[in-house]
Amino acid sequence: MKKTKPLYEGKAKILWETDSPEHMVQEFKNDATAFDGTKHEVVEGKGAFNNRISSHFYGLLRDEGIRTHFVKTLSDTEMLVERLEMLSVEVVVRNIAAGSLVKRLGISEGTKFDPPIVEFYLKDDELHDPILSEEHVRALDLATPDQVDAMKREALAVNIILGNFLKQRGIDLVDFKLEFGTKGGELILGDEISPDTCRFHDSKTGRIMDKDRFRQDLGGFMEAYGEILDRVSS
Ligand code: ADP
Ligand code: UDP
Repeated sequence: MKKTKPLYEGKAKILWETDSPEHMVQEFKNDATAFDGTKHEVVEGKGAFNNRISSHFYGLLRDEGIRTHFVKTLSDTEMLVERLEMLSVEVVVRNIAAGSLVKRLGISEGTKFDPPIVEFYLKDDELHDPILSEEHVRALDLATPDQVDAMKREALAVNIILGNFLKQRGIDLVDFKLEFGTKGGELILGDEISPDTCRFHDSKTGRIMDKDRFRQDLGGFMEAYGEILDRVSS
């Protein structure tokens, strides 16, 4: 399959059309962005790390029976995916309090959630991705009630699969974001699962091993991504 023209260039990836109408090439860029793109740097190697890590997670999820858009890894920075009609919502699962939740609700960082929390956000940079209730999702026609239920179910299943896999490799899955799309009416997990879209903490030391190193200028940004790749591929 050959990539033909770029259909969409976002902050972190380029989606290419291919000579198959059902497939796209998802290319991971080296751009690191945070705070709605106001913080931006080009970081050598990031695209390759996210492509490799994401490919690994999608392979694992596929083996565990989760329907994803992942077809195969094509190169260091590219994967072949099924073309989806994306839903304009982001689904976040939280096991441990961090990030926007701590700020918004005044909860202490590190508070554990059992059962985990599932949240929906509107994918809209201009509105700063506002949080949505399930009623908002329905009222704005962003997804049907069945799709809302299915996204929650799938997101919690992904949480268990990835959480257990990572725990065995000494990593706590703090929280993560998923995006879903549809193809012929079927709900399918799309986009990426990487240290850009998840929070990973070392289980023993609590060391941050994700994009928070960039957001908070902690240094050792790509070293942390490299270590995540080493541990997930071991
Ligand atoms: P952003 O749009 O937030 O800047 P990215 O740079 O990650 O984000 O862009 C990737 C875009 O591709 C996102 O809008 C995502 O929803 C979309 N996407 C991911 N997987 C697929 C897919 N299988 N088919 C079509 N679009 C997809
Ligand atoms: N996240 C993401 N894209 C977004 C917003 C959040 O990938 O547009 C991820 C983020 O990396 C974290 C989780 O979703 O793993 C929860 O993020 P949070 O709501 O705490 O927002 P943030 O602190 O990133 O602003």
